[in-house]
Amino acid sequence: MGKSYSVYLPSYSIGPDCYKEIPAIVKRYGKTAVLVGGKTALEKATAAIQEGVAGSELEIIGNVWYGGNATYENVDMLMENELVQKADMIFGVGGGRAADCCKVLADKMGKPLFNFPTLASNCASSTALCVMYKPDGSMAGYYYRPRCCDHIFINTQIIAEAPAKLFWAGIGDAMSKEFEVKLACRGVTLKHSPLMGLNISGSCTSPLLDYGKQALQDCENNVVSDAIQEVALDIIISTGIVSNLVISGTDYYYNASLAHCFYNSYTKLPQSHNHLHGEVVSFGVLVLLTCDERLEERDMLAKFHKDLGLPVTLAEMDITPEDVEVILDDAPHHLDWTKTPYEMTRERFKKAIFDMDAYGKTL
Ligand SMILES: [Zn+2]
Repeated sequence: MGKSYSVYLPSYSIGPDCYKEIPAIVKRYGKTAVLVGGKTALEKATAAIQEGVAGSELEIIGNVWYGGNATYENVDMLMENELVQKADMIFGVGGGRAADCCKVLADKMGKPLFNFPTLASNCASSTALCVMYKPDGSMAGYYYRPRCCDHIFINTQIIAEAPAKLFWAGIGDAMSKEFEVKLACRGVTLKHSPLMGLNISGSCTSPLLDYGKQALQDCENNVVSDAIQEVALDIIISTGIVSNLVISGTDYYYNASLAHCFYNSYTKLPQSHNHLHGEVVSFGVLVLLTCDERLEERDMLAKFHKDLGLPVTLAEMDITPEDVEVILDDAPHHLDWTKTPYEMTRERFKKAIFDMDAYGKTL
């Protein structure tokens, strides 16, 4: 018999009017909430949240800027904040870094957490895992919450009005899920949770290929549509469910592999601030497929990426051949480096990166 364990999966509401569901859903957790998030996100969402809870017993006692990045320094700063201390619940409002910061904050304070993604840019609002940064912008490592947040409210109206560039990067990030989880799990005998995660990961790629382009156009035009909803659910929920199932704090981790490894090492470069997480991860997926010698799939995906404007060459991310050496030096230090069915070597990664770049230049 193995030891006991608990699994938490995200629950969520989605739609242009989903904030109306807030009072009924959060009722059991308290009477007061503080909004903690990004500046733009708070500007975009505060009125809609207030409107959603109008006439209910729930009181929003204020909103607080999260500090601009998911750092432990910002978590400490927020823990000192009077409104945060006073509120029964934390409403995390914004993109991935705000969500991760609020996840650590709520975990440390033992408060219920509800997430309000204002962008469909990653699965941070639905995962237990928190990606933490240092104040200089480089990675500080992963923080493992025991569970995901209590509920997610995905307002598709707000997402449709958010910058299309972030939605575009979200598509690039979500594209990694199926490829990375399948590579990390290959050849491993999986128990119940990761086995479910592996199979759900199989539903992450096709909605992006089917609806991605349309969704992006609709986002550019600020129009709520089925395509936006399908892609937002893919980016925020499907990938998040997979993450929660394929990561256990101590026992196993199959959540990422070479694509995120590429990104994590890319954050060592000063120019990394000029490019978005999902943008770089999407190139990492192409490197992964090259490394895994699945060139037919790689070519198909690279053409899709090219069509969407995602990078297919190093130059598009301002990476010089010398910078690749920095990435290669750093990559073996990340957990994701070890998540391949074969032993990764510097030479193999290098070849895959330059081979992909060479192919990308022909597109
Ligand atoms: Zn990612």
